[in-house]
Amino acid sequence: MTFQDLKLESPLLKALEKQGYTQPTPIQEQAIPILLAGHDLLGVAQTGTGKTAAFAIPILNHLLKEKNTPQGKRIIKALVVTPTRELAIQIADNFTAYGQYTQLRNTVIFGGVKQAQQVTRLKQGVDILVATPGRLLDLMNQGYISFRDLKYVVLDEADQMLDMGFIHDVKKIIAKLPPKRQSLFFSATMPKTIVELSQKMLGAFERVTIKPEQATAEKVEQGVYFVSKKNKPKLLAHLLEQRKNDSVLVFSRTKHGANKIVKTLDQAHIKSAAIHGNKSQNMRQKALGAFKDGSLKVLVATDIAARGIDVDELALVINYDLPNVSETYVHRIGRTGRANASGIALSFCMGEERPYLKDIEKLIKQQVPRMGEHPFMEGADLVEEKADSDTSKPRPNQRNRSRNNNRNNHRNRNK
Ligand code: AMP
Repeated sequence: MTFQDLKLESPLLKALEKQGYTQPTPIQEQAIPILLAGHDLLGVAQTGTGKTAAFAIPILNHLLKEKNTPQGKRIIKALVVTPTRELAIQIADNFTAYGQYTQLRNTVIFGGVKQAQQVTRLKQGVDILVATPGRLLDLMNQGYISFRDLKYVVLDEADQMLDMGFIHDVKKIIAKLPPKRQSLFFSATMPKTIVELSQKMLGAFERVTIKPEQATAEKVEQGVYFVSKKNKPKLLAHLLEQRKNDSVLVFSRTKHGANKIVKTLDQAHIKSAAIHGNKSQNMRQKALGAFKDGSLKVLVATDIAARGIDVDELALVINYDLPNVSETYVHRIGRTGRANASGIALSFCMGEERPYLKDIEKLIKQQVPRMGEHPFMEGADLVEEKADSDTSKPRPNQRNRSRNNNRNNHRNRNK
């Protein structure tokens, strides 16, 4: 299937061509026709699958076809609510890119910064508003936002909204939406609370599910190192030394941990920056900007802060800590190998993290290839490695092959 087959308006086709998108991703292929036909949609999918375009393109297409933009002030016709600032900025950027040959305007609002500029842009008038829930509710309550002409509403990353404690804000926002609208609801997972929330928001809906395994395991080359807590900094510095020219995203489970990683890398003369909730919005934007333009090669992030990171040339993701929630692993490794690209995700696993690795492998239904010996291996790690080969019993040839493949590929990338 091509984008032409989807019968999109020509300014959108032109923009997609300019983006270098040749083919719709699976979620786009499934969701776009449903949305163009005007149905509500429940999308069980995560970032990295092409989800943003899957909802942005049909919304832009509808707005273009309606051609009823009044000559005077623009009024919000489409609203996207998403949990993090980074994700909000990313989505708005995508709307700008896909809508670059149209007259449609978007803006983005989020907390942590002064509201004046955002209010000015709202007063100037926009067709599409991308927002995080807290600031949206705040500006709604102050009377700066009218839903009078609102027709398209997207709730993005609903499970993350729940994790971040936004559920009440989201319910309040849903309660204010005009009844006649097309609703889109996206979540990577569907726990009970999220199912209930989706029922509140959606009318009769169609469902599209893109499984994490489809989205990641096939495209991302994975590997795990057994390493003690003490030796993790050394192994990280060692791997980064080998990849001086690659953009590497390092995941830390905690904010404190992220700061510590930056400090130890600094001691090894490797420049990096951390982004997490305790950093000011300006510092986060600065670090993210430098990472995106390639001037900063190593970014250390917590899971929440990393949600909106979309870097084309992201060669490598390193899980400095293994996440205790398996789905998070899938989110993380989805930062590399976006859409049509392939990437590498390497994880550090210390003794206490072994159960997390087991859970992850259960979820992705595959064994993460063992990277074998490394210069910082100690007795306990060797025992882990050995115990692993005794218990999980992959076929010996297959195991060696996958390990060698990984090594060779990594080597090639270093050239
Ligand atoms: P998303 O899941 O929306 O965050 O998108 C992940 C990445 O895939 C982004 O970098 C998009 O620009 C890119 N992308 C989305 N759709 C396509 C497509 N059809 N072809 C190639 N890249 C795409």
